[in-house]
Formats: sequence, C-alpha cells, structure tokens
Amino acid sequence: MQNPGWSLVVHGGSGVIDRADLKPEQDRAYRAVLAQAAEIGATVLRRGGVALDAVETAIHVLEDDPLFNAGRGAVFTADGRVELDAAIMDGATLAAGAVAGVTRVRNPISAARAVMERSPHVLMAGSGADTFAASEGLAEVEPGYFFVERRWRALEKQLTREGVAVPRRPHGVSEDLAQAALAHDEGKRGTVGVVARDARGHVAAGTSTGGTTGKRWGRVGDSPLIGAGTYASDRSAAVSGTGEGEYFIRLSVARQICALVELKGLSLQAAVDEVIHTELTDLGGQGGVIAVAPDGQMAWAFNTSGMYRARIADGHPLEVAIYKDEP
Ligand code: ASP
Repeated sequence: MQNPGWSLVVHGGSGVIDRADLKPEQDRAYRAVLAQAAEIGATVLRRGGVALDAVETAIHVLEDDPLFNAGRGAVFTADGRVELDAAIMDGATLAAGAVAGVTRVRNPISAARAVMERSPHVLMAGSGADTFAASEGLAEVEPGYFFVERRWRALEKQLTREGVAVPRRPHGVSEDLAQAALAHDEGKRGTVGVVARDARGHVAAGTSTGGTTGKRWGRVGDSPLIGAGTYASDRSAAVSGTGEGEYFIRLSVARQICALVELKGLSLQAAVDEVIHTELTDLGGQGGVIAVAPDGQMAWAFNTSGMYRARIADGHPLEVAIYKDEP
C-alpha cells in the first residue's frame, strides 16, 4: 500500500537572524505564527484536503501577519509603495499561476491561484493582475493596510544610506505599536513559502513576498517566477525559496533542485544542500529553500544565519526553528 502520510514545510524568510538579535518575546512571536501557519496547513491535510489548499491556507496566515515580508508587513519600494509578488504550483498537473507587482489584492497567493485556475495564463503583472484579482472576487485593500512602521523606517535608512530622497510618508496609516515592537529586521528581505504533500502523494508549492526594501524600476524577484523561487512536480519535489532573488533566478534554484532529484536520483536533502551550499554559495548568493517530495521526504537548507521555518507530518510532531544551530 502506498504511504498515506502527508507532510508540510513552512518558511518565513531567510536573512540576518542571529540568536543574539532577537529578544525572547520576539523569538516567541515568530515561532507562534510559524506554528499557527503549519498547524492550519496540517489541519487541511489531516482532513484529507489537497496539497494546494494546504499551501494557500497556510500562506494566508503569514500574509496576514505583519511580522513577515508578504501581504501586510511587506517592505517598501524606493517610491514608498508596496508591490507584492506570489506564485503557486500544483505538482500533479504542473499547473502554475503567479502575480508580480500587485498593490491592491489582500492575499497575493490567492491571486496567483486564480491566475492558475481561472485564466489561460501563468503570470500576470501590475495593475492588470490587480484588476483580474478583483474581477475574480478576491478581497482588495487600501495601500495603508500593508503599512508597517518598521518597514518604513528600514526604507528611510536604506535610501538615506544610498543618498536618495525619501518619499513622502503615506497618509492615514496606523499600526499596533506593541505588535511592531515584536518584529525583527532580518535585513532588507524576507518572504513566506509553504510546500506540502497530501495523503494522495501529490505535492504543491507556494511563495509570497514584498520583495526587497527600496526596490525600483518594477523589479521582480524570484518568488513569482516558476522554476526560480517556486516549483512543484510529482516527479520530483515541491520547492519554495527565499533569498537574493536575482541569484535564485540565475540558477533556476527551485527547478534545479527538482532536476537533481528527478534526473540524478539525489535524495531531497542532498539536492537542496547541493543547490544552496554549493551552487548558490559559489555564485555569491544568499538564501534558503524548503522542500517536500511525493514520497514524504522533507528538507530545508540555507546559507544565511537564520531562516524562519517549521515542519510537520503525519506521525511527526511540529518542529519550529529560526537559527542555524537548530536542527
Ligand atoms: N526572494 C525574495 C526576492 O528577491 C526576497 C527574499 O526572499 O528575501 O524578492
């Protein structure tokens, strides 16, 4: 009989995340949201739901939480705007959908799923993508919804360092300052992603991000690019990445991991280690990935000081980790 187990892995971004940088209450806050996202995804799978639903549902938790650079809490562009990227892929069919540079849809991962399921396209960008999401009935928000004070301060700091004018602060934004105090600045990046394997053995991957602080000229990272930051195939694995998107694009990181599994027969952990610790590191890039395989293997790897992450599987308790020295 085929192994009926399900599994799910979550990341909340990689970067400069040292144990000494996080106060105990910050550490607890991040772990709590990672655990909540993993548990919500696991609940879908426990009930016999499909991997895609688990991925989308778990990503909603992270997009809605201001601690992470996706949805609410996203970083700002050099113009003081929030431009969001997301992608989702179904390993059973190789169907994929993505959005880049959206500014109005509340949950970009659902917009990506709508592109996949309700349009003939794979990737939509800018205002057209927002218009499509709205026409599909997805919730829209005002730009102030995404605003998080510490992201604004990070933008001010970066632009000042670069000698670039700081844009005018958006009007009418407010934030829960107690919540803001829990946030850690992990560098100018961050992203969220979830990969899952359902009880039928199908895998799916999703990634959602605000990209990089101070990005300009319509910059798009790896997250919404199928094969770079996101990929899923029942022949190999489901992968979601986080890190310096330009390097992930150049290496086709997510697809490359799948190729090593599918064509070279590497174990999933060996494949993620090869791409992150050898290929990405040799090229000078930083970041990490999470992955699951149709046979239930789970893996993660990163070459930064930390990566917010969690995993859970049928018969395996939830594990949540942040720093490099954790298993
Ligand atoms: N990969 C994302 C991007 O380049 C950022 C990150 O994951 O930190 O847009």
